[in-house]
Amino acid sequence: MSNALGKLKERLATVTDLNQAASLMHHDQETVMPEGAASARAAQLGTVSRVAHELFVADEVGIWLEELQSDSEDSGLAEEDRDLIKVAARDYRIKRNLPAEYVDRSTETHILSNEAWRKARDAADYGQFLPWLRKCVDLAHEYADYQGYDEHVYDALLDQFEPGMKAREVEAIFTPLRAETVHLVKAVADSGVQLDKSCLTGNFDHATQVHLGRTLVSAFGFDFSRGRVDEVTHPYCTSFSRDDVRLCTRVYSGEFNVCLFSMLHECGHALYDQNIDPAWDRTPITSGCSLGIHESQSRMWENLVGRGRPFWDWAYPILQAHFPQFNGVPQETYYRAINGVAPSLIRVEADEVTYNLHIMLRFELEKAMMEGKVDLEDLPREWNDRMEEYLGVRPEDDAEGVLQDVHWSFGYLGYFPTYSLGNIISVQLYEAAKRDHPDLEDQFRRGKFDTLLEWMRIHIHRHGRRYTPGELLEQSVGTGIDAGPYVGYLKSKLNDLYGVSV
Ligand code: ZN
Repeated sequence: MSNALGKLKERLATVTDLNQAASLMHHDQETVMPEGAASARAAQLGTVSRVAHELFVADEVGIWLEELQSDSEDSGLAEEDRDLIKVAARDYRIKRNLPAEYVDRSTETHILSNEAWRKARDAADYGQFLPWLRKCVDLAHEYADYQGYDEHVYDALLDQFEPGMKAREVEAIFTPLRAETVHLVKAVADSGVQLDKSCLTGNFDHATQVHLGRTLVSAFGFDFSRGRVDEVTHPYCTSFSRDDVRLCTRVYSGEFNVCLFSMLHECGHALYDQNIDPAWDRTPITSGCSLGIHESQSRMWENLVGRGRPFWDWAYPILQAHFPQFNGVPQETYYRAINGVAPSLIRVEADEVTYNLHIMLRFELEKAMMEGKVDLEDLPREWNDRMEEYLGVRPEDDAEGVLQDVHWSFGYLGYFPTYSLGNIISVQLYEAAKRDHPDLEDQFRRGKFDTLLEWMRIHIHRHGRRYTPGELLEQSVGTGIDAGPYVGYLKSKLNDLYGVSV
């Protein structure tokens, strides 16, 4: 191993350890930390993150990277090492582009902006958040200027979450998808079919809900010896190495599907994290390729598997054994209840079909904000008009409209499109796995999910961040991102559920 490579790897290991320790401290804060520890924890997190950042952006790291990149063609470096150098060099360039003063100022602004957003949302008063949103948009412009971009200012923002993706490409995917989806939602409404969802409300024992969820994610392949389940206000999944993955859910005793489907969703993220190749331990490659690819995994287990008939052919008797009140509910009634489509105001509660319209609305507004084409004062009206146009519903106030999501308050402009990209990619990957294993869904009927997991492990999980999202898709499905299979999936499902042929 060359001297520079050894030093680089040692430094990346230290930085990865520190970043994962910061994630653990953050997760602890979200789950079990006593309230009184908030200011000490903020100081600790600040210190660990700053030390990690300084160690990574140090001048010597740049010198090692340059040396390694200049002779990587003929130096006989292993392919894995060349890929590690490529990923580290990209991260280094992006971090070095940002002055320390900007990093401090934006971190502090986003913390204050998030506090202002919380208060504004509780008061359903957009006016309270408006000055902070202006600051967030200004910071996003500054960020884009530091990073540079070829085509559109939005590309620099998107690149943080979906490396290499351009606003133009997102638009080319979203524009036809929006027309198709609006059409589908209208066809469902016109069908006059009302699915009976009453079996999903009632009184469901808290601990039994979690037990059922644990049984099902265990069947999917979640390894409890290298992960655990915790309860939080807003579900997420986080990991501190491939051997320590935390799946976080929430439980409502009156609503059956919240805990169950958040666990199936987060399990998809968890399976990804648990199956990254251990060779990438303590390197920047040991995490997901992009948010869109990560979301493809959660959406796949939640929707394509978890809302499908084959899965419930196996799982429904297990569900009934946990909750005897379902003994009188035919499986078909339950299946229809968990798959109902209905326009609603809140993104996180939206069904599979209408969900993407919520995302497209946000993408359009973010782009318009960055282009200066929408006056931020008019944002609530712009939001509400689009809700009415796409979904036929109009928010009564800002809390159920423009203020519902946390993302903008943290400066996460460019994040939302990755949710829909995940939906689209989930079907591309699932269908590719089915082509290789035509009996996949028969296996689900027997409670066997390891063939699907193994396909994902080989094609997606093990690579971590080694390849770009585009490269990974090309290798696994043989094409770029394509909404065609996703639209086909929605159409056949709605045809089955509502008898609409579109
Ligand atoms: Zn997710």
